[in-house]
Amino acid sequence: MDLHQPRKGRQDLIVMIPYGRQDISEEDIQQVVDVLRSDYLTQGPAVPAFEKSISDYCGAQHAVAVNSATSALHIACLALDVGAGDLVWTTPITFVASANCALYCGAEIDFVDIDPQTYNMSVERLSEKLAQASLNGKLPKVVIPVHLCGQPCDMAGIHSLSQQYGFKVIEDASHAIGGRYRDQPIGNCRYSDITIFSFHPVKIITTAEGGMAMTNDAQLAKRMQLLRSHGITRDAGEMTHDPDGPWYYQQIDLGYNYRMTDMQAALGLSQMHRLDEFVSKRHTIAKRYDRLLADLPITTPWQDPHGYSGLHLYVIRLTLAQISKSHRQIFEELRASDIGVNLHYIPVYRQPYYEGLGFKAGYCPEAERYYAEAISLPMYPGLTEEKQDKVIESLRQAITK
Ligand SMILES: *Cc1c(COP(=O)(O)O)cnc(C)c1O
Repeated sequence: MDLHQPRKGRQDLIVMIPYGRQDISEEDIQQVVDVLRSDYLTQGPAVPAFEKSISDYCGAQHAVAVNSATSALHIACLALDVGAGDLVWTTPITFVASANCALYCGAEIDFVDIDPQTYNMSVERLSEKLAQASLNGKLPKVVIPVHLCGQPCDMAGIHSLSQQYGFKVIEDASHAIGGRYRDQPIGNCRYSDITIFSFHPVKIITTAEGGMAMTNDAQLAKRMQLLRSHGITRDAGEMTHDPDGPWYYQQIDLGYNYRMTDMQAALGLSQMHRLDEFVSKRHTIAKRYDRLLADLPITTPWQDPHGYSGLHLYVIRLTLAQISKSHRQIFEELRASDIGVNLHYIPVYRQPYYEGLGFKAGYCPEAERYYAEAISLPMYPGLTEEKQDKVIESLRQAITK
């Protein structure tokens, strides 16, 4: 027995290679343990320290930490005064949370079809839909582009349409922390009002559950801080009259308990030290996939030369005309070979809940074509070359045998 071999951890016993996985170091664990031994498990110093670390990294003035990206999307919509009678538009190829946030506020949701190359919201389709909506007097109040897989959307194009038609922009950057657009960090809100991050374990850095809303607008930041904690203020300047005494607080808005704990923030702060390393490892893995899959009848993910993707996901599309099996068959064969492939995403409006709102099959044809061909291959910093080779070999077998 080679005594220099590291002992096998629990991770090695898991047979299935997952599509995404967190990377937790001993330092990360120590940071969380330190919080557990401290005075504050929540509402202590770790949350503002984590917020500062992300606002410094992204170059945005304000960061508001919450318990999930879903909560961040909700309070971002509320801060932008989304309510009954308002319209919000997003992309159909996203997680349901990017659309649900509008419904939480009593607004209506609609979808803009995707670009066939980037799989992000198509700025061409957006522009056409806005022109039509302007004629009908039904312009959106907020548009929510999603940086799918971490690849930045055409934010300059979306921003210029927002100026022309007067809507606000929330970037759902749940996949994109650590990425760059036109050589500036995603999350700096140069082309948007608010940017959202997610810290779910499959995302780029994790706090177990957690999210963050970035903005350069002090009023929006204040509103979101209020909404994440019941709408309660302890700031005398915000109260309707002088405090009754030192115990006093006022509820001045209808908020929620969307707070992040100090244990989560400490984990996130510790993970921030490895953010650049995580994203660069993802790029190394993607380049290796690109190279070793080049001869197969599939489309590997196009990368925008003006952007740097966070590479949360590596999505391939099957060229079904050149393959003798169905999309589903290939997917099932990969799962049977213990490759934890996934599909990001089912077009949101094809969900029964959304069909109940009146959406029908065929609404966004490009999104539906994507859905019929896409497969997310395993992509996470800890994916070894050996495991990646198994993924590649299994895919090759499934497609060609
Ligand atoms: C993960 C994800 C969310 C929701 O994130 P949570 O932190 O789990 O609430 C929202 N939008 C997109 C695009 C996501 O991938």
